[in-house]
Amino acid sequence: MIISIITALIALCALLWFLGNYNIWRPVVPSDRPRVLMYHSISNDVSDLAVSVSKFEQQLKWLKARGYRFVTVSELFEMGAQSKVVALTFDDGFEDNYTNMFPVLQRYNAKASIYLAPDISSIDKLTDEQVKIMQASGLCEFGAHTMSHVNLSHLDDEQAKWEIEQSKTTVENLTQEKCRTFAYPFGRYTGRTVELVKAAGFDSAVTVKKGIEHVSDPLQMKRISILGKTNIVQFYIAITRGRYRV
Ligand SMILES: [Zn+2]
Repeated sequence: MIISIITALIALCALLWFLGNYNIWRPVVPSDRPRVLMYHSISNDVSDLAVSVSKFEQQLKWLKARGYRFVTVSELFEMGAQSKVVALTFDDGFEDNYTNMFPVLQRYNAKASIYLAPDISSIDKLTDEQVKIMQASGLCEFGAHTMSHVNLSHLDDEQAKWEIEQSKTTVENLTQEKCRTFAYPFGRYTGRTVELVKAAGFDSAVTVKKGIEHVSDPLQMKRISILGKTNIVQFYIAITRGRYRV
């Protein structure tokens, strides 16, 4: 009796774990809503924020095989609802976006939007030269992510405005293109931050809120988070449903 209760409890725990980490119970989101994927680093030194090169390639292969079209966030903002569109986004401007990610992008002729924080100090950053090469390929657009990767919701208006505007100008000086898209560091922002981002002249801004939706509010776009440990089954669940974990 006790043994069968223990067995039932173990089975229940296993089932809950499975449903918590493989959210197949979430409704499938129609394919006319764009999928915006959030990455950071592409590196074989795998962590939460670092996806291995082979896994990243497997994911692009998976998307391509299923007929997904790769666009930048700014292209997404311009186009109306279209079926099977995906935007790859990379926050922070890790140097491995050039050394590891860009070669894969080229192999699959895929596009990406990379958000730079020019004064970020905690990572190996893309060099100006690398940014220029990626920009010239026509496969990458560069967005802004504040100057020093700060939590904008903690700053006063003056400081927040400077971080937002200065990062836009710095990215524009580097790429010689209009910087049209913004990413909120740590996904932290307030209604006032959104106003400042809009006033600075950005068309779109991405958050870390998880999900898939029409570009109805281009300054608070949801994304699908892809982590180092995300496996291909979870990737499939995330692409079809917006997230794979509770
Ligand atoms: Zn960031």
